This record gives sequence, structure tokens and C-alpha cells, in this order.
Amino acid sequence: MAFENLSERIQKALRNLTGKGKISEEDINAASREIRLALLEADVNFKVVKDFIKKIKKEALGKEVQESLNPGQQVIKIVNDELTKMMGSSATTLNKSKHIPTIIMMVGLQGTGKTTTVGKLANQLIEKEKARPLLIAGDIYRPAAIEQLQQIGADLKVPVYSEQDQSDVAQIVANGLKRAEQNKNDYVIIDTAGRLEIDEPLMEELEQVKEIAQPDNILLVVDAMTGQVATDVATGFDNRLDITGIILTKLDGDTRGGAALSIRAVTGKPIIYTGQGEKLTELEQFYPDRMASRILG
Ligand code: GDP
Repeated sequence: MAFENLSERIQKALRNLTGKGKISEEDINAASREIRLALLEADVNFKVVKDFIKKIKKEALGKEVQESLNPGQQVIKIVNDELTKMMGSSATTLNKSKHIPTIIMMVGLQGTGKTTTVGKLANQLIEKEKARPLLIAGDIYRPAAIEQLQQIGADLKVPVYSEQDQSDVAQIVANGLKRAEQNKNDYVIIDTAGRLEIDEPLMEELEQVKEIAQPDNILLVVDAMTGQVATDVATGFDNRLDITGIILTKLDGDTRGGAALSIRAVTGKPIIYTGQGEKLTELEQFYPDRMASRILG
């Protein structure tokens, strides 16, 4: 399982508290120190760690905990609840439009798994809702990206709208949306260009696409394995585009967990899905409580 190290260390810190009839302030300080180090080593944002530890200490030193029959168990519950809150409390679902189609705009840096995730999302909507999505190929700078999306469309038997020799992405998107209206597609998923890093032309182009498409969802795709870099990227995209949610890809290869744990607390935006592999079926809804329980074992 991912986050093994983090999981093991937190569990070990908490084990020292269980079974004790009474826990002292020193016990709590020692456990907090261990948990703090484990989180920092997992690449969780420094400020997020600081706030988290402060809350844990305050609650664990509270009177009810101290006077309860099993204070150690109470502290574990506190850590579990706070970890869950840190990741957003409850699962978030996609925004649905009152009128079809519901429009989903996908954004993110190159190589994060954006195009693959467009396919995964389409596949999931088909499986769960018998949806009839249309995909729009808006990453026109990488010819391979258009071909990749067409291949995904062919695999899923889903239409892909693309245009050759058109350099105005907003126009492609507008035409794609018209096509979706004619075909009565219930979802439109727009793939957009990525770059190696956030730059002004990219952001301006995405703002234009947003303006034209008026999407119900702007989902940022970030690579979990990049840890705090993913958190910084999310802040950058959110400042310009006001994203509605995050898809954290490559969680299957993430051994540390920093992005999963910090990104919601830093940006205020929820993780909606996680990518768990390269296959089109490997996309999962994100449940903060289940993730917290997994970490605590
Ligand atoms: P884009 O440039 O952002 O459109 O990225 P691609 O969709 O082309 O994906 C880049 C690479 O990441 C490909 O090799 C994908 O198979 C791989 N990938 C995407 N999502 C995941 C995931 O959740 N887990 C793993 N292990 N690989 C992924």
C-alpha cells in the first residue's frame, strides 16, 4: 500500500498511548513529535502540519480525553478525525448542469496524466450512469495528444471532436460544444494543453476556454508523486481559473502521501478522484475518511 512509511510511523506513535490508564502531557508531546516528523517526511506542507499538530495537542489534552476510560483510543479517534478533515471531510462529486450537457474542463501540466484521465472519467461516467459523453481535443500543440485522445475515444466508443489546422483553441471548443448539442451528449469533457510549467500564454488560453465553455467543473489533474510541487501547481491554477476540484493521479506510485494530505488544506479545493494506474478503469472516487482509516490501519 502507498504511504506505508507514514502509516507505520503514525501507528507506532499512537500505539505507545493505547492501553495506558492515563496519559500525561509528556506522552502526548512525544506522540505529536513523532507524528509531526512522519508528516514532514511524507512531504506534507509545513503549515498544514503545524496546524494539524496544534489541533491534536489541544484536543488530546482536553479534560474529557484525560478523564475517559481509554484515553489512548480517544487520541487515535482525534487523529483520525483531524486527518479526515485535513483531506476535506466528505467525498465530493461532480457538479451537474441542470441542462445537458454537463461540461467538464480538464487542466494540468504536461505528463501528469490529463489525457489518460479524460478517458478514465468518460469510462466511469459510462459505467456508472450509462452516460453519452463527447470528448473535445483542445491540446492542439502536441499532435500526439489529439491522436491519443482519438485512440481513447475509439477504445471507449465515444466521439472525439477535433479539428486539423486550427490554432484557435477557444473556437475548437465552441464548435465541439455545438456538436455536443446537436448530438444531445449529456457530458462534454474538454482536454486542454499542458506545459512543463505554469506560464502566461497557457493560463490565458485556459481562461479563454473557460470563458467560452462556461464549464460546470474545472478539474485540475496533478501528479501525486510530485508531493508539494503538486500543491504549488494547484495553487497556481486555482488562482487563475478558480478550479472546482482536483484529480490526483499516480497515487499507485506515491509512497509518501504529501500531496494527498496537503492539497485540500492548502487550496481549499477538494480531491474528487484519484488515479490508481494506467488502465482506463483505474480511477477512484476519493473518500477522505477511508484514506484516513487506511493510514491509521
Ligand atoms: P498528459 O500529458 O497530462 O496528457 O499525460 P498522459 O495522459 O499522456 O499520461 C502520462 C503518463 O502517465 C502515461 O504513461 C499514463 O499512462 C501515465 N498515467 C496516467 N495516470 C496514471 C495513474 O494514475 N497511475 C499511473 N501509474 N500512471 C498514470
